[in-house]
Amino acid sequence: MLRIGGFQKFSLIDFPGKMAAVVFTQGCDFRCPFCHNPDLVLPEKFSEPILEQEILEFLEKRQDQLQGVVVTGGEPTIQGDLKAFLKKVKDLGFFVKLDTNGNNPEVLDDLIKEKLIDYVAMDVKAPLEKYSDVTGVQIDQSKIKESIDLILNSGIDYQFRTTVVKPFLSDQDLSNIASFLQGAKRYILQPFSAKGDILDASLLDVGHYTSDEFDNLKQKWHRE
Ligand code: SF4
Repeated sequence: MLRIGGFQKFSLIDFPGKMAAVVFTQGCDFRCPFCHNPDLVLPEKFSEPILEQEILEFLEKRQDQLQGVVVTGGEPTIQGDLKAFLKKVKDLGFFVKLDTNGNNPEVLDDLIKEKLIDYVAMDVKAPLEKYSDVTGVQIDQSKIKESIDLILNSGIDYQFRTTVVKPFLSDQDLSNIASFLQGAKRYILQPFSAKGDILDASLLDVGHYTSDEFDNLKQKWHRE
């Protein structure tokens, strides 16, 4: 059974070009200090999971109104039952978008080969050499690289995206990311919002890019 911590019945912005429902899985193998979803990342903050069956029943009733289902987290690919869940969603006739941190390329590869996903959005957190600092855990850089290559060669639609957090990412860092994503048709820069509940609250009190500074970075590196 997929561990599900949240469900949004309708979204026009999470799946490009599709009206979609959004499933939020519980648990993540990263600890990004700037993460805005501690209740989906830290086990001690998990709410009572939502039953997978409830969601599938809802989707069955919305087959005519919705086109897609977004599976996001947390990190969906750490769940052993992800594949079985996606099969059920595909059997209901929905397009599937997967949001991932790219740390589990073998899972991604399998889902792509089995045609269980139609769109992938991968967060690229930092230049590879800074990955462990920015994600708060020890990272095998080759896995991140492998996921990027898999997506680029998959033939399915995709986007890469980076949340631009000033204490972690400079203009030079974004330039380095843009270089190793060369060939990617879509690279989205997202501003960091220094408010709300985040994993490391001390980040709320340090300097962040102003909106003008962010727009400047976006103009240089964002492409879609
Ligand atoms: S921002 Fe980082 S810690 Fe939060 S869900 Fe995404 S990968 Fe996990």
